[in-house]
Amino acid sequence: MDKKVYTISYGCQMSERDSETLTAISTKLGYSRTEDLSQADLVIINTCCVRESAENKIIGKIGQLKKIKEKKPSLVIAVAGCMVQQPGILERLQKRAPHVDIWTGTFDHNKFEELLHASLCGRKIALISQREIDVSEVVPLAEKGKLHVNVNIMYGCNNYCAYCIVPYVRGRERSRPKEVILDEVRSLVESGCREVTLLGQNVNSYGKTDGFGYDFSDLLKAMDKVDGLFRVRFMTSHPKDLSDKLITTVAEGEHLCEHFHLPFQAGSNRVLQMMNRYYTREYYLERVHRILDEIPEARLTTDIIAGFPGETEEDFEQTLDLVRTVPFTQAFTFMYSKRSGTAAADFPDQIPLEIKKLRLQKLMGLQNTRSLAWRNEMVGHNCEILVEGPSKSNAELLTGRTRGNELVVFQGNEHLIGSLINVRIDSANSWTLFGRIEFPKERR
Ligand code: SF4
Repeated sequence: MDKKVYTISYGCQMSERDSETLTAISTKLGYSRTEDLSQADLVIINTCCVRESAENKIIGKIGQLKKIKEKKPSLVIAVAGCMVQQPGILERLQKRAPHVDIWTGTFDHNKFEELLHASLCGRKIALISQREIDVSEVVPLAEKGKLHVNVNIMYGCNNYCAYCIVPYVRGRERSRPKEVILDEVRSLVESGCREVTLLGQNVNSYGKTDGFGYDFSDLLKAMDKVDGLFRVRFMTSHPKDLSDKLITTVAEGEHLCEHFHLPFQAGSNRVLQMMNRYYTREYYLERVHRILDEIPEARLTTDIIAGFPGETEEDFEQTLDLVRTVPFTQAFTFMYSKRSGTAAADFPDQIPLEIKKLRLQKLMGLQNTRSLAWRNEMVGHNCEILVEGPSKSNAELLTGRTRGNELVVFQGNEHLIGSLINVRIDSANSWTLFGRIEFPKERR
């Protein structure tokens, strides 16, 4: 009988990519993917520890699986990811969730197959390496046949932003060699992939610590030449490392999407310094101007934290001011939450929850108005769309994305999936554009 895997993924794109890898390893072993938990023979929960609130949610989810396992004892439950890797947490988790079969961290993907085999023989296993894996040991396998695939180009982070746990759980920065990434992308294209997002915690420092003799711009230039690949995206760009060379490379690239996800986190220099971000507000704005001077059609998105310890009303006002100044098409806004093990967790002047909530609401309200105004400006214009598939809210409509990564909903035939087409935008809300097909483009 066909065995099925059900995957639950928490956290950032890197974590999502890890989930794809673990799922792909299971499909290679004969599992087929299911969206129905009750059908599953294997459940993978890929965790994230960036936010403490997410951790509580994940623990709740693991708890819910206990009843399912009682009804179906053959069910294998695997809990993976960076949450499991935090010092001292495993014993606690194992006590709370004895029904879990496999506990494994982000450095052990290449052992997942072995772990699965062992659990099928009835063993309960925990394998959490704290050693940073060499990039050659990583299994960069993705599910075949997907239109869009996230591709890891590097692992870890050297930046130690005061609020972030990532460098402690994902290790020091290591980049994958260009040829290895290109081979992976070429094989993805052969299996139907048309768009990749190159992932790293800070893609702008790709190769810097590995002595490759080439940098991220050189990787993008090589990517731009891959036959059959329509679009190349990348994230995340740390503003401090965003070079002129990279901006020019994107400006000149045919398939390189003009979208920069450039987290600014806070608008006040005082807070930026406390956050250990290594740039100033002025420097950030200079980088934005440089991008827009060279690529006027570029789209900018960002991440912002409200209520960092010690943030005053004046500091927060400067964050709002930055949102009013920069034409962000979208902002991912977060309320600061204490993360044990990070420097900021011990900072004095933690902001009361009520104030953090108020600031976050203000920030979201402002950005939503800005996003809507910006999307309304697109009404009447034509956009190039890569058609992705049926809309989640209405299966009779199709969705796709612009080069700037905006979601577009329109009427069209399913045979267009995977094609580049032109759509004229008729209306918009804060998150979505609605349009109609103008004419198909040449590339299929
Ligand atoms: S750059 Fe900063 S926020 Fe991003 S992963 Fe590294 S430490 Fe975390």
